[in-house]
Amino acid sequence: MTITAKTKVLAVIGDPVEHSLSPIMHNGWIADHGLDAVYVALRLHGEDPVAAMRALKSFGLAGANVTVPHKEAAAAAADQSEAPVANVLSWGDDGKVSAYNTDGPGFLDALTEAAPDWRLRVKRALIVGAGGAGLGVAAALSPHVDTIHFANRTAERGDSAARTIPNGRALRWDDLERGFGAADLIVQATTLGMHGQGAPEWPVSYCRSTAIVADIVYRPLETELLRAARTRGLTVMDGLGMLIHQGARAFEIWFGVKPSAAKARERLTAALA
Ligand code: NAP
Repeated sequence: MTITAKTKVLAVIGDPVEHSLSPIMHNGWIADHGLDAVYVALRLHGEDPVAAMRALKSFGLAGANVTVPHKEAAAAAADQSEAPVANVLSWGDDGKVSAYNTDGPGFLDALTEAAPDWRLRVKRALIVGAGGAGLGVAAALSPHVDTIHFANRTAERGDSAARTIPNGRALRWDDLERGFGAADLIVQATTLGMHGQGAPEWPVSYCRSTAIVADIVYRPLETELLRAARTRGLTVMDGLGMLIHQGARAFEIWFGVKPSAAKARERLTAALA
């Protein structure tokens, strides 16, 4: 593709951002659909990310993803936002910028792909972790389940996470065995298990035989948690599904077409290998 003055520009904005898989995913979809656009990574490193993102508004990008630590700033900088924490920005024809959060809905899309009958199977969910990702997953999952327990290393953060949804409860970090044993869906949403970070021996032997085990970490694609769950014959979901589906929803907002999740998985699996 030749880049000209008419080529639309999109970006992922974060800090750090150089390991992001989003450029591979979105440039692949741009090529699939023959669009005159390019998607790059922009590191936003500065004192005032809201001001930086407000300034960016005047350039009229075709769209942007926003990742850690700037998701709150993105929501604050936009002219309108559907959530206080946003991972997608979209420029309207009038120059106004709208912010969206596709992380939670993207998680549900991925869950539906991994376990199409999850709505019938999941009454009790356990979210391990209470960071931004865990909260996003919980908000999307909350209307579809009876209870969501949060187990977080820092208890106060787990307690306040539980208060963000009507059916939230907190579980002590040293009570994980009970949590794993009671849950129909377990979502690992901490950084534990990532390359370079150790992971505890998760109490997978306590899981129900019908449990679904999801890990939102995708480096490595098969974490120790997923390996143990797969060995036990449980339904598993890896972290690429959420990444791909939040991205697919963003792409649809920007271009009005639904891109191929399967093609993105092929490309990203190759990139991670
Ligand atoms: P975050 O807001 O920084 O939260 C980090 C979470 O990990 C907190 O719950 C923290 O607990 C916990 N944690 C960190 N180190 C720990 C340790 N040594 N022992 C126990 N708990 C520990 O991060 P985030 O944005 O929620 O992201 C969390 C993970 O999800 C990252 O690995 C990220 O790459 C991944 N992610 C994946 C997707 C996807 O599309 N698949 C999307 C978003 C994020 P404390 O509160 O005790 O510090």
